[in-house]
Amino acid sequence: MNITEVRHQSWAGLLNIFYICLNCDHVASQGLLLGYQCKICGHSGVRMFYSVVISSLIDSIQDFYFISNKRKTKEDTAAITIQTNPQTVIPLLFCTLADVILEDFLRTLMRKQGLSQPVADRLLSDHLTGKRRRECLFPVLTGCKWKAALETLSSPLEPNFNSTFDFYLEVNKARNQFLHDGVPWAIKTTHPQGCINHIWPLLKLFVSLHNKFVCVLHPSGNL
Ligand SMILES: [Zn+2]
Repeated sequence: MNITEVRHQSWAGLLNIFYICLNCDHVASQGLLLGYQCKICGHSGVRMFYSVVISSLIDSIQDFYFISNKRKTKEDTAAITIQTNPQTVIPLLFCTLADVILEDFLRTLMRKQGLSQPVADRLLSDHLTGKRRRECLFPVLTGCKWKAALETLSSPLEPNFNSTFDFYLEVNKARNQFLHDGVPWAIKTTHPQGCINHIWPLLKLFVSLHNKFVCVLHPSGNL
């Protein structure tokens, strides 16, 4: 499905479809129409895995995508400014999405490991950037380097996580050049569509990381 063809239905409602088992913490995408049953422990109690912030960011990306589309079809009455230009806003939102997902993952992992919230807050503030969180904090908490973790999660059944992460790095670099050095052209014209294409793999990546490092009852868990 090409998500950009969907205009009148929430993209978050279509993409953010992951549930966490309240018994064993395993996360999976599963329809709830006939009731939920955890594939690992059989428990039926679940809640949405990703926070409402994630859904809001995805729907914001959708809103800005169609601001762009409106402009092309001359139906638009919204002013396109530097603050509302989808060319820049969609990559900014995508990077925020990746940052929030990473922090949520690390917070859940630290809670599972019995670290108190003040300690978790301190560790996150000591590792303020995404790069430090991936390259320094993640290995301390998991015993595994970030890139090695991506390799172990690679599977023909999954999206190409390395490709998604490399794309994120490219867009994040352009974002930083734009925000910190005022270089708007650092963001390529292909970036907004790429961001939209990589939302689903990004969500899947952090579900896989959660199931490997947080879900202790999962067969591939290592805690
Ligand atoms: Zn379960």
